[in-house]
Amino acid sequence: MQTSSDICIIGGGISGLYLALRLKRSAPQLRIQLFEALEAVGGRVQTEPMLSGQFRAEFGAVRIEPDLQPLMDQFVQQLGIATSAITSHEACSAIRPDLTRLTPAERVVVEQAAGGDVAWALLWHGIAQVIGAQWPLASDHLERPARAVEKASFRRLAQFGGRPLYQQGMWNVLSEVLSHEAVEFTREKGAFYNFKNQNPNAADWICQLLDMRLMQRPSYIPQGGMQALIDAAEQAVRAAGVEIHVRHQLLAFGERADGALDLQLLHDGERVTLRTRRLILALPRSALEALAPSLPAPVQASLDAVLCFPIVWASCVMADPWWAPGTPPGSGEGATTRAAHFESHPEQPEAYGLAMFYNDDPWCHYWANLTDTPGARFPHKGRPVHSSDERLRQALVRTLQQTFGRDDEPQLLEWGLCDWSAAPFGAGVHFWKPGRDSEQVMRTLAAFALGDDGRAPQVHICGEAYSDFQGFFEGALRSAQRVLQALPANATSSHQGSDHECH
Ligand SMILES: Cc1cc2nc3c(=O)[nH]c(=O)nc-3n(C[C@H](O)[C@H](O)[C@H](O)COP(=O)(O)OP(=O)(O)OC[C@H]3O[C@@H](n4cnc5c(N)ncnc54)[C@H](O)[C@@H]3O)c2cc1C
Repeated sequence: MQTSSDICIIGGGISGLYLALRLKRSAPQLRIQLFEALEAVGGRVQTEPMLSGQFRAEFGAVRIEPDLQPLMDQFVQQLGIATSAITSHEACSAIRPDLTRLTPAERVVVEQAAGGDVAWALLWHGIAQVIGAQWPLASDHLERPARAVEKASFRRLAQFGGRPLYQQGMWNVLSEVLSHEAVEFTREKGAFYNFKNQNPNAADWICQLLDMRLMQRPSYIPQGGMQALIDAAEQAVRAAGVEIHVRHQLLAFGERADGALDLQLLHDGERVTLRTRRLILALPRSALEALAPSLPAPVQASLDAVLCFPIVWASCVMADPWWAPGTPPGSGEGATTRAAHFESHPEQPEAYGLAMFYNDDPWCHYWANLTDTPGARFPHKGRPVHSSDERLRQALVRTLQQTFGRDDEPQLLEWGLCDWSAAPFGAGVHFWKPGRDSEQVMRTLAAFALGDDGRAPQVHICGEAYSDFQGFFEGALRSAQRVLQALPANATSSHQGSDHECH
């Protein structure tokens, strides 16, 4: 059976949901359908009840920083979601660099940062030299008029060493201005979101850091966990009149002679064909790569422009926890993890605790290797995260012992992990590769035609992976906004053709 719609959105992550709502509200007469491959929408958000719902473990996104994520903050407010401030900050390393191997200027930076985040201080010492007078660091603030435009222009035009900054890797440029000890310490000990073992595009990464440096307001999480955000968004999208279909995976698509698009989807093992006038792919890199044969050559070539960063969360509930309420997050020092977060049972803090271990490269590979049960590496939506895997339990025991410097056995009641490098995600987050012009790629993906006969664009790609704020919901929403701006004027008007017959 074929049904015909005006717009098909593929992917029910935050970008797909946001775009569906914006489009339907601006053009209620259009028939808009959203298809999600998994059992539920939400994408890289997974809030799991543990200990019969007495704890909520986040296995995906954990916080929203209103200063960094204004669009997302606005969306949360529009959805009327109550939030709770997050007061604990990620711990910075207690380890210090070898002062004898630093330059005199770097030693001053370390002394001034004493007791604070030395890696962050060294990073900014380096960045200040890389950007020089090209950005007004001293007078910068988030409300500066035209700052967004200036940042977009900085991203494309900034130079370092006589070459465009975007053509260079972050660790390359820092190595030109910092001692090796400072670079290595910053790379190894900085909590800079997953970039340790890869070399992100210097221009794009500095642009994000320019915002992160000015962040003041505390982060928050929706009351009820991140799932509350997804539930509210899904409800709003459905209430607006968008049809949401889960367990529908897009396999391929192609253009018909009349310009409409035929989509091949897999639903409960059966192939379904659908027709639409416009297709929006709200998908990450690896999901798009699976669709590459359907994409035109310039779009296929663009997919390689971003790096994929794996992330694994491993969590457990412990009886008689070794931590007290309010125990700050740990920086993972001395344990096989990147960062550790602890919660206590609100009514019985001394009886039960939740420990969550966040792992990017390299420790994510250690954790991903700890379960043999099929499907247990990615027990996503509808498949409970709780594990009976003994190797995973033992690894959690060892990590707790390492974290707290104890060798007695913690009593674990429940445990589980989620590996975002598994399909259909292929990565926890993404970042631009050096040498790739992110603006150019984003423009290519925002609107394109399938054929090369000069027809108007009818396919669009959005999502965190190819955005100008990767790693955050904000990037997903900004790219959705870019698609909205790239739509031709008639795309949201009824004369686009709403012949909704079933064939
Ligand atoms: C562990 C972790 C922690 C994070 N922490 C934060 C945080 O604290 N704050 C923050 O702002 N951001 C955070 N992020 C990033 C944030 O989660 C993402 O930026 C955001 O969720 C991405 O949304 P998206 O819509 O672009 O893509 P996704 O959420 O990946 O959505 C894509 C959807 O498409 C579906 N799909 C894939 N292929 C197909 C197909 N062929 N057919 C149909 N559907 C398909 C997928 O199942 C998925 O639901 C974190 C991410 C991870 C993994």
